[in-house]
Amino acid sequence: MARTHSVKHLDNILVRLNKAGKILNLPDWLMETLCSFKLVWQSGLEVKMDDGKLRRFEACRVWHRSPFVDQPHKGGDRWHPNVSVEVMKPHSMEMSWKIWLAGIEMGGAKGGIAVDPETLSLGEQKRLTEASVDERDERNILGPRRDVPAPDVGTNSQIMHWVRQRYAHRHRVREDGPFAGVVTGKPVGYGFDGIEGRTEATGFGVMHVLDRVMSEHWMPYPRISTPRLAVMGFGNVGSHIVQRAAQRQYPVIAVSDKNGGVYASGGLDLQQLFAYYKENRTFSDFKGGDRITNDELLVLQDIDVLFPAALEHVLTKANAARVGAKIIGEGANSPTTFEADKIFEDRGIIVIPDICANAGGVIVSFFEWARNMNVRDERVPCGEKDAVLSAMEAIMSKSTAEMCANAEKYKTSLRNAALVTALGRVAPLFVAKHTA
Ligand code: NAD
Repeated sequence: MARTHSVKHLDNILVRLNKAGKILNLPDWLMETLCSFKLVWQSGLEVKMDDGKLRRFEACRVWHRSPFVDQPHKGGDRWHPNVSVEVMKPHSMEMSWKIWLAGIEMGGAKGGIAVDPETLSLGEQKRLTEASVDERDERNILGPRRDVPAPDVGTNSQIMHWVRQRYAHRHRVREDGPFAGVVTGKPVGYGFDGIEGRTEATGFGVMHVLDRVMSEHWMPYPRISTPRLAVMGFGNVGSHIVQRAAQRQYPVIAVSDKNGGVYASGGLDLQQLFAYYKENRTFSDFKGGDRITNDELLVLQDIDVLFPAALEHVLTKANAARVGAKIIGEGANSPTTFEADKIFEDRGIIVIPDICANAGGVIVSFFEWARNMNVRDERVPCGEKDAVLSAMEAIMSKSTAEMCANAEKYKTSLRNAALVTALGRVAPLFVAKHTA
């Protein structure tokens, strides 16, 4: 199952990479470089369980190729039973694309541990985190200038805090800090060195990019001033998309989580919805709308914008022809297969690709790292949450405008244009590395 999924994911990635490479006329050697990896690490970790017995876990980390020799790699650390090198490879490539599109001088990475964290006690989670830090540090593949992990599926700010503590513990005898830059997504507050705004960043960023794209002059639709929205997923990304929609007074017609959703053709009462969900963690008996399945939500006809903000590969050749939205904003990573992309292109549906739409999280993580490392960079804000989010929006406005300009220039989809923009930034750096 994991293998089939990773092969499909890699297929998606390679189809997209080849299209962008052709547009930019990249040489064969560079295309091969862009399909390769700087580091593929895997190792067993032995950890003492609460019952005193040792248990072995499989950990891995993959770095995609990067032209930035003195800058770290960056990407999530995932704890999930299907974590493996093959699954993480395409994820690390997509991280690079997202980072480069945002103009951040780092390389992509992804990794994690094959485990269901819910089966571990807090103490076991801490010891597993420490074993993973020790193993990576011994191989010199972790550090503020080497590789900077972040939370992903199954990990959180507590685990990131343990990473930072363990790394500092191992290094402070020999060197001076700043050790906080070894990881991002740390808790916020005195001494924790996290950054305010990280929680909201991805969802708010998705809405910001939607607004920028809707104001583009080449949009094939008349300006939609109050778009009707549907959001699949009500976790970190989905709930913040809805929160921003409430602030903008855009009607939200349907929302869902893994147990299904709720629909109201006149728009949901979002205040009631948030209050209900906070208390019940489900939409099951919410009285402000009708029950709807996730499959039905994806093909709603009376919406302008659909946000898949939960899972990968939910928009496929099986449902793409029935999607009713005019615009799709990819809150999740890889929610659309390349077969569905083709159908959307033929039908004139605009897909705002994940590497542009959901880059807010990694941009704010970059701010966190830069602050921790005392990096002077005019893009990095000094202030609190509002300053962080508007600095993030400034970067996203720029990359969205460049993506849209390339879509117009090359008469291609936003998906191709985003990748063309990202690769166009780094291709000269890869070439310059080999120029005598
Ligand atoms: P989350 O765990 O906070 O929320 C996931 C949501 O998806 C939950 O509401 C869950 O109920 C729902 N869900 C799970 N299985 C489902 C199913 N079968 N059908 C419908 N809904 C289902 O996760 P998140 O952080 O919101 O991330 C969502 C997506 O966005 C993932 O693809 C993630 O990789 C991507 N992403 C997240 C961030 C970030 O900053 N959190 C950044 C970039 C991309």
